[in-house]
Amino acid sequence: MLLKLILRRRRLLVALVLAICTGLLSIFINVQFSTAELENLSGLPPLQAHPLPRTLEQWQDSTGRGDYFSQVKPTNLGYLVWSEFPLKVYVERPLNAAGTSASSRRFQQWVEAVLQPVQEWSVYLPLVVVEQRENADIAILRSRPPLRPSFKRDTGELQLPPARSAETHYEFYIRQAAGTPAVLYHRCNILLSPDLSKEYIKAAGRHELGHALGIWGHSPLETDALYFSQVRNPPPISPRDINTLKRVYQQPTRLGWPL
Ligand SMILES: [Zn+2]
Repeated sequence: MLLKLILRRRRLLVALVLAICTGLLSIFINVQFSTAELENLSGLPPLQAHPLPRTLEQWQDSTGRGDYFSQVKPTNLGYLVWSEFPLKVYVERPLNAAGTSASSRRFQQWVEAVLQPVQEWSVYLPLVVVEQRENADIAILRSRPPLRPSFKRDTGELQLPPARSAETHYEFYIRQAAGTPAVLYHRCNILLSPDLSKEYIKAAGRHELGHALGIWGHSPLETDALYFSQVRNPPPISPRDINTLKRVYQQPTRLGWPL
């Protein structure tokens, strides 16, 4: 039960980050909208599909194993489709990269384990690892997902869910470069616990990256990386995972289009 991967937020809060960059001066305005407010925003781009990334266009599944696209849920702004490649992936690093203490070594091992699934997914969508978190599309942070207590509706009791070892969030923001129209984008944060073994860090990273890349749902088969629960022998990325990813990237979205 360590890796209970619960990914959907009960109440979607959308951070629209308006970045006004003028030379050296950057002003960031964070505005949070509820789902209802977001739907009422005027001037959202229409739902449109982006061209299929070449890596996915080239993917042909000779096994005919199908997909689990029916389990993937679109967001209020359409499917979580990235449109500008390579995607910038930031992996948290120890402050002292040359540290030789036991905790530094554990941190380094965590980084090495996380980089493997980044490499695996980059076969299917171009990814580049960046050194700075700022401007990264996907940030993978060495952190335990917070416990979120909830109230049982019928009894009013406080419930503490089981600890999770990984989770992925997304947020929306608007970016405008000088002389170009404002564009609606998303970015993802993946929290990946430091308490896992190397194999489970890889498995959890593979699973969460699948979500961050657009598979916002779970497979019912344990032979897929996006299976909803942790398994004893974590599978590699499967043809069904890629078939599903390819279908996601053929779907319409408001993300990546100008306002
Ligand atoms: Zn999941």
